Amino acid sequence: MSATPRSSLADSRNNQERQDSSIATQQRESTQPQTNSIPPLLGSSLTELTQWVQQQGQPAYRGRQLHAWIYQKGARSLADISVFPKQWREALVDVPIGRSVLHYRSQSPDGTVKYLLRLTDGHIIETVGIPTFARGRDDSTQNQKSKERLTVCVSSQVGCPMACDFCATGKGGFIRNLVRHEIVDQILTVQEDFGQRVSNVVFMGMGEPLLNLDAVLEAVRSMNEDVGIGQRSLTISTVGIPGRIRQLAEHHLQVTLAISLHASNQRIREQLIPTARRYPLEALLDECREYVQITGRRVTFEYILLAGLNDLPEHAIELARHLRGFQSHVNLIPYNPIDEVDYQRPSPRRIQAFVDALEKQHIAVSVRRSRGLEKDAACGQLRASRFAAPHAGSNSEQ
Ligand code: SF4
Repeated sequence: MSATPRSSLADSRNNQERQDSSIATQQRESTQPQTNSIPPLLGSSLTELTQWVQQQGQPAYRGRQLHAWIYQKGARSLADISVFPKQWREALVDVPIGRSVLHYRSQSPDGTVKYLLRLTDGHIIETVGIPTFARGRDDSTQNQKSKERLTVCVSSQVGCPMACDFCATGKGGFIRNLVRHEIVDQILTVQEDFGQRVSNVVFMGMGEPLLNLDAVLEAVRSMNEDVGIGQRSLTISTVGIPGRIRQLAEHHLQVTLAISLHASNQRIREQLIPTARRYPLEALLDECREYVQITGRRVTFEYILLAGLNDLPEHAIELARHLRGFQSHVNLIPYNPIDEVDYQRPSPRRIQAFVDALEKQHIAVSVRRSRGLEKDAACGQLRASRFAAPHAGSNSEQ
């Protein structure tokens, strides 16, 4: 698309480049996908699409039609848009909308669906659709109408450079950043597959979103304005990149920030998240305080419970000390074991003891229910289990 105006959310590029950490510098060398030269239309706003159709010599109302066909009708090619004049459609045959191809789909008995999506350059990413059902009923017997919410767990990178020790994605290394249409596509894919509007989005799939902040902000804008998901229903999760939480705060979004803390002290954190060596726990928490001050939004802390490592009541007390005075909520995630490492999931009794210890310290806490625990449930695990090599584009299983 030519002469595309930048969205206000994407104005951070210059600031962001000044604050690049060594991780970001390292990953920038291989960030951009090798696609054909015409940028895909998905992720563009109504204004951008209207300008684009006018540049093609068409009346402005075609922009609204194009927007509706991309975001509501799920058009995968401009040739599908039957309201466009046939001759023009034929002339646009090389303009991509930017949809991925479903490579593999796996559904758990609880209704959670994991997708492997193939991008135009052949790389594969993982996306998860998580339906929430009416309380007190048996999930497996629900029909479409009784679903209350549909949450999508999206990826922001192909692989991840953060190399967290407990994570299948981290074990697989980093390939490249996703671009905005590849992030928005994940939402539309899940929406179409479930036949239901997506209500919530969490950036908790493959990748560290704050290392790809420009594309994430553009995708957030599109999810909000084009797909119609409220900002408060969007959660950006990060293990913490120095300076980036502040940078995100300066956009004054209403999204929820989730910090993947996973440890009650710097020693355990460095063991689990090697990049934390460059970002002490206190510095991370200081930046979170700034985030709360600037945005007025609460921060959620994610804490993976690993048996025998960080799941004792004394860890809970240590964690509570760090979070005192914070407007926060702790989300405990009992670990889903993966083949590559020896970490184990704590017993229900130990999980409850951790919850009790936090509550005694007046910390708001919840335990995330495992969805699709029985197989390939951890982030990146499905992709890892389906492929021996990271690049598996031609191995379609559709
Ligand atoms: S846990 Fe998240 S940040 Fe860490 S390696 Fe996995 S995907 Fe990356």
